[in-house]
Amino acid sequence: MEKLKCDVLVVGGGPAGSTASRKLSQLGIDNILLEKDLSFQKPCGGGLMLSAYKEFNIPKSLIKKEVNSIKIVSPKKNEAIVDISDYSLTIVHRCEFDAKLRELAKEAGSRLIEAKAYDISVDKTPTVFAKSGDKTMAIECRYIIASDGVNSTIRKKLLKQTPSRVLTYYADIPQKETKSCQFWFGDDISPKHYSWIFPHFQGINVGLASDNQKDIANYFQNFLKKSQLQTDLKPKGYYIPTWDREIYFEKGVFFVGDSASMVLPFTYEGIYYAMKSATLAVDAIAEDNPALYEKSWKKLYYKKFKFLKILQKLFLSSDYFSEKLVKLYQKPHFQKSVVAYWMGIKRPTGTIRTIWKVIKVLVK
Ligand SMILES: Cc1cc2nc3c(=O)[nH]c(=O)nc-3n(C[C@H](O)[C@H](O)[C@H](O)COP(=O)(O)OP(=O)(O)OC[C@H]3O[C@@H](n4cnc5c(N)ncnc54)[C@H](O)[C@@H]3O)c2cc1C
Repeated sequence: MEKLKCDVLVVGGGPAGSTASRKLSQLGIDNILLEKDLSFQKPCGGGLMLSAYKEFNIPKSLIKKEVNSIKIVSPKKNEAIVDISDYSLTIVHRCEFDAKLRELAKEAGSRLIEAKAYDISVDKTPTVFAKSGDKTMAIECRYIIASDGVNSTIRKKLLKQTPSRVLTYYADIPQKETKSCQFWFGDDISPKHYSWIFPHFQGINVGLASDNQKDIANYFQNFLKKSQLQTDLKPKGYYIPTWDREIYFEKGVFFVGDSASMVLPFTYEGIYYAMKSATLAVDAIAEDNPALYEKSWKKLYYKKFKFLKILQKLFLSSDYFSEKLVKLYQKPHFQKSVVAYWMGIKRPTGTIRTIWKVIKVLVK
């Protein structure tokens, strides 16, 4: 078995891992970035806010499409069009996007190795065991960053658990186009979650999330019929984390992105939060103060995540409340306030107060 050493080992070269690795190298911290499959196409809509390109210094040439409106469709097919032209949502091709982020990490000085982590030991020096073809390796380090996604091997081996998650079914239709990101609600198509029609790097992507794995294929068919799309699609399935079991730093390992369930409730936006959690974990490593990671994450996002979780529970609990939500979105003031909060522009407290008032009226 080959033996390797580094200061920090980053397991998983998706948006979280490559952002962590790039920042570690920029700070002069020796690191290895381990990715099991350099040509992996992560099942994903690829939606990322335009502002993220500046924040993380990512080339805009990765943008395939730009979206300036969101369409929300109620169970009874009432619609609200939400203008997001002040912010813009971009669509990327995940295989290309992930490869570019890894390339940027390499340019900054990271060592990229294509190998699959299969075990971990933290009894003495933290060590990850990985395999590449017939070759096995043991990589010793000071810290490990687990950025190996929703099916995290590191989380399974170290903590005997997986992130809490929900199953999605999705398919691409290359010959169709849509200008807006569409969110459809309804107990007949995706109870407690939403179904979507999003612009994709090629054509559109349709899908939904469901807690009910037995009926998910039926929901998918119902959705295709309801949205008048072709019904002969062959959907694929993949999990998306739900933000339930919070986890930050355990037994010498930092958990970031999907492996830590850091996906925004309600919208299921995960790319931005994966990259952001990675930079916060690296800040904590640079200070040699692991507790700083949880502290800074909570300061920035705890309220927002909690709030969106409550909104999802309430408004997607039944067709009655989803219908009300679309009605609310038809009001320009509500739209503006929620979008500003979502984008992190407006101070949360003001918006939360406004929305709480609305919820109180609704619940009465
Ligand atoms: C259907 C669907 C649609 C989505 N749409 C959107 C969207 O439009 N916008 C958005 O923001 N989010 C979306 N998400 C969520 C988003 O895809 C994730 O939150 C995001 O990819 C998380 O990034 P990550 O780096 O934490 O994990 P991942 O992107 O999953 O990356 C993990 C990496 O680790 C590698 N890996 C895994 N195991 C090992 C191992 N044992 N050893 C070495 N490497 C390993 C994998 O190959 C992968 O490259 C969607 C998710 C799904 C399922």
